[in-house]
Amino acid sequence: MHLLNADLHCHSNVSDGTLTPEALAARALAGGVELWSLTDHDELGGQQRARDAALALGLAYLTGTEISVSFAGETVHIVGLGFDADDPALQQGLAATRSGRRERAQRMADGLARAGIGGAFEGALRYAGNPELISRTHFARFLVDSGVCPDTHSVFRRYLTEGHPGYVPHAWARLGDAVRWIVDAGGIAVIAHPGRYRYTPTEEYALFTEFIAHGGQAVEVTTGSHSAAEQLRYADTAIEFGLLASRGSDFHSPGESRTELGALPDLPGRLTPVWQALAPRIQRAPA
Ligand code: AMP
Ligand code: MN
Ligand code: MN
Ligand code: MN
Repeated sequence: MHLLNADLHCHSNVSDGTLTPEALAARALAGGVELWSLTDHDELGGQQRARDAALALGLAYLTGTEISVSFAGETVHIVGLGFDADDPALQQGLAATRSGRRERAQRMADGLARAGIGGAFEGALRYAGNPELISRTHFARFLVDSGVCPDTHSVFRRYLTEGHPGYVPHAWARLGDAVRWIVDAGGIAVIAHPGRYRYTPTEEYALFTEFIAHGGQAVEVTTGSHSAAEQLRYADTAIEFGLLASRGSDFHSPGESRTELGALPDLPGRLTPVWQALAPRIQRAPA
């Protein structure tokens, strides 16, 4: 049986990726993707371009975003798929979620300056295609290119995670708000890469039950962030909670991302793909 090659998670230079929406659409097609979504962090600025580029290439498209949420002392990412990108409440919610990034970045740079690394705010900003979306990823690229660290993972480990000089705690959106913005705009909310959160079993259970209580319906099972064991584990979680399953590379940049667009394993066969429930929201070029 042919399983659809859906890749429903990646980033352009409208957030913290390095490629344009148009270049990503072409790369998705070259990677064999049949259904694609661009899911920039807290931002819809690339949606129209991604959709137009996809449809021009004959690639089916779903609107997407990835919302930063604070829950039980961790940052959690909630992907939204298939919503109306013109929905005012969703747009306002995302604008509010983005609004603290510049000040946070300034404080991150202050922390790095105290550790002997000067000019990091201006340095990171030069890497941000969209200054409103300045993120830890842009600091990481600046610190690699200026020779402080050999790769972005070591920057995160040494400077940008809790307990390190460039880390600044931040209050993102609330879980219930993020889910409601997506659902009320006609989309489906997805817990992104659950294997990445450092939760106790009790906290993880609370994340899933509260997410569902707010109207969330899906979880990423197959993602560039999961090991094979995590993929199996969250397949079981999807069944246990009756959730739809999603699949996405989380591609950010050639040479930086572990997984290429379209190059993921298939979803385990016992799961219901989230794109089945999104069929009426899929956009295609007229035949
Ligand atoms: P921010 O939203 O500014 O906190 O930045 C979060 C982004 O940093 C994520 O979306 C990833 O792209 C990236 N990121 C987080 N942890 C790591 C890591 N350990 N190595 C490389 N990139 C990471
Ligand atoms: Mn990112
Ligand atoms: Mn994420
Ligand atoms: Mn992502």
